[in-house]
Amino acid sequence: MLFPPVVTQNTACELCPRACHADRTTVKRGMCGNDYRMRIGRIMLHEWEEPCLSYGAGAGAVFFGGCPLGCVYCQNMELSQFGAGVYRTVEELTREMLLLQEKGAVCIDLVSATPFAYEVVSALEGAKKQGLSLPIVWNTGGYETLATLSMLDGLVDVYLPDLKTLSVARAKRYLHAADYPTVAKRAIAEMVRQTGALIFNEKGGLLRGTLVRHLVLPHGLRDTVRVLSHLAEYGETVIVSLMSQYTPCKHLSREDYPELASPLSERDYKAACRYAEELGIENLYTQEHSSASCAYIPEWEYPSSPFDLFLNMAEEAEKRQ
Ligand code: SF4
Repeated sequence: MLFPPVVTQNTACELCPRACHADRTTVKRGMCGNDYRMRIGRIMLHEWEEPCLSYGAGAGAVFFGGCPLGCVYCQNMELSQFGAGVYRTVEELTREMLLLQEKGAVCIDLVSATPFAYEVVSALEGAKKQGLSLPIVWNTGGYETLATLSMLDGLVDVYLPDLKTLSVARAKRYLHAADYPTVAKRAIAEMVRQTGALIFNEKGGLLRGTLVRHLVLPHGLRDTVRVLSHLAEYGETVIVSLMSQYTPCKHLSREDYPELASPLSERDYKAACRYAEELGIENLYTQEHSSASCAYIPEWEYPSSPFDLFLNMAEEAEKRQ
């Protein structure tokens, strides 16, 4: 459906820390690239989350379009910044989540859903009334307001945030969000408060808790050390996933970010793993270094209307001028 009905009274959006006050009841887009329509790039069983979230048939992933951050190295840039995705109603999302459960998904994995928090809350409430019983995972870049997180309290079972950086300079340069370190630390503290101690099922599946991801970047070891030291303070309350899969994808400007133009070295990744072990982080996921690739990026759906696709591309070009 191209133009689903407006489902929100969100006339001055503050759903994320950008607080750009876009009128989300109209076609006007916020800084995240979203207007009044809920945009979804793919709904699928997904095997590539951490093992405690994608065992068995996999996570029931819903990838939402747009993003409050603007990471220059984003591997999902077509979806997060270039307008991929098709428009779906709350009712369609409700049905799709129930369908994922029928297909054997082990959780519902809501990826970058923040700009659609109102719609997702409605869809979750509807689906739970109709029998959705899987753990609900809020998979986020970590750039969240306490107000939005409070809407999710009691509905979300597992938080899956990134802690991308604790360096203000790097947050400004790579994410265009100098406040990211402060905001993400505060958000993760609230997530941990909501979920409490980790709870697993008999298959090792995570039923409740917070799992924090950190992607190690080239020339970023000092930052990684700060991130790991911070996360170690949570002790056994959180799981840390130390990711090695950075690889420069096609949209990265090699001229503007020459330090990100090569994949992460094996030596740097091993050093990061050693440091995590030295800190005594017990709940730790690491990756095979060979997983550095763009191969895990799903294929996105695109607007069924050429006009919408043209509009998305034109707006993105305008933003970049
Ligand atoms: S979610 Fe989007 S529209 Fe809302 S405040 Fe953030 S950037 Fe603006």
